[in-house]
Amino acid sequence: MNIFNFKDCDEGFIREVEERSGQDVSQCYQCGNCTAGCPYTFVYDLPVGRIMRLTQTGQRKAALSCRSIWLCASCQSCTTRCPNNIDVACIMDVLRHMSREEGYATEKDVKLFADTFLSSVERFGRVYEMGLMAEYGARSLKPWTDGDLGPKILPKFKLHFMPHSIKGRDKVARIFDRFREGQMQ
Ligand code: SF4
Ligand code: SF4
Repeated sequence: MNIFNFKDCDEGFIREVEERSGQDVSQCYQCGNCTAGCPYTFVYDLPVGRIMRLTQTGQRKAALSCRSIWLCASCQSCTTRCPNNIDVACIMDVLRHMSREEGYATEKDVKLFADTFLSSVERFGRVYEMGLMAEYGARSLKPWTDGDLGPKILPKFKLHFMPHSIKGRDKVARIFDRFREGQMQ
């Protein structure tokens, strides 16, 4: 199936990705360097270079509904390798945000993990690992996810049964409030 439909170029999509990322996607000349250095290509449905091409050609739905943007590790290798200094990792990040906002998120568990992680940081000022594991397990209906790691980590005191008490918890929560306020403007 041809995922590039040049007749249906959504220019608004290109503009939005460019504004939100601060990058000029027209600079990409499809050399493939980003794809060659990406450690996650082996699990992607579309390599990162093709996602750049989809973005350049205004293929909103194809770009926002691919799995790859949810599996990206934000390792920055693509950004480092781009000969045109395009911050490709930032574009992947923007696509992930847009995918979430427009209801295209394909990897529900990745989205759920990110939501649970951020909710833990908002509540406790930093992540409460045990709470995160329990909440993610319950909400994803996969209570035993990574359960085999527990016996290895517990003796090293890397998992705490109670949340850490940190200074400035209210200030961290305020960051989340400001983000929400910004979204309403
Ligand atoms: S940031 Fe994402 S797309 Fe770029 S190389 Fe790393 S895993 Fe691949
Ligand atoms: S490395 Fe840069 S120029 Fe080459 S395909 Fe990737 S984004 Fe485009």
